[in-house]
Amino acid sequence: MKSHKPRVGVYKFTSCDGCQLALLNAGQALITLAELVEFVHFAEAGFVDESAPVDIALVEGSVSTPQELKRIQQIRAHSQYLITIGACATAGGLQALRNYQHVDQWMQSIYASPQHIQTLATSTSMSEHVKVDLELWGCPINTQQVMRAIRDLLSGVAPRIVADSECLECKRRNLVCVMVAKGQPCMGPVTKMGCGALCPSAGRGCYACYGPSENPNTSALSNRLAGLGLLPQNIADKFRHINNHAAPFEQATHAKKHD
Ligand code: SF4
Ligand code: SF4
Repeated sequence: MKSHKPRVGVYKFTSCDGCQLALLNAGQALITLAELVEFVHFAEAGFVDESAPVDIALVEGSVSTPQELKRIQQIRAHSQYLITIGACATAGGLQALRNYQHVDQWMQSIYASPQHIQTLATSTSMSEHVKVDLELWGCPINTQQVMRAIRDLLSGVAPRIVADSECLECKRRNLVCVMVAKGQPCMGPVTKMGCGALCPSAGRGCYACYGPSENPNTSALSNRLAGLGLLPQNIADKFRHINNHAAPFEQATHAKKHD
């Protein structure tokens, strides 16, 4: 009998699989979701049919090989609504650090036989190649955010991601600011909320895995970090991290390099 459930695909590109694993570890929420939708492709969970049309595509990983360039076009063509999950798919990921150096230099320093590797010169986000309907950041993603977005879609509501800064989450949770109280460098003021202030609640500074917040004041934060004693290169490295390829962080890195 033909299923009438909405069809969902989860697709892996260049990534560590951490976002897919976060989905698999979602426990009861995943079981509930599996009752509402039909997973047609989710290799980590044992469903493999990448060419099947889907209502919702969840894409993990960045585009870093010629094959991936073709695959994302094919997946976009048969997907009604495409959501990127995680920093890799949304901003190119940590592996976008390769964009700053010639790719041959990386390959020769890492692999014994680099001549067998087919790769692009850059690691890029999905939105640089196809239309993306919703971007979910994080390294890894917050599975509650993913479930909420899917539930919204199933209810006919347009999913919305709040892009205020991480600082707001700290305030809502009554967390003492690690930068003010302990003098720890923290990227929270320019980072999108969504993780539940995970790192500050463990007493350490945020390192911006949820990407840039709306209108991030990167120069004010750079000045604050300099006031804590960080050198321009240290400050540039703070921006050049998991979401190094996100435009505001790229610009901030560039600005510090020319200090
Ligand atoms: S965003 Fe982070 S956890 Fe997710 S696949 Fe990329 S590296 Fe792994
Ligand atoms: S506090 Fe920052 S680095 Fe830590 S999980 Fe949240 S966004 Fe990521």
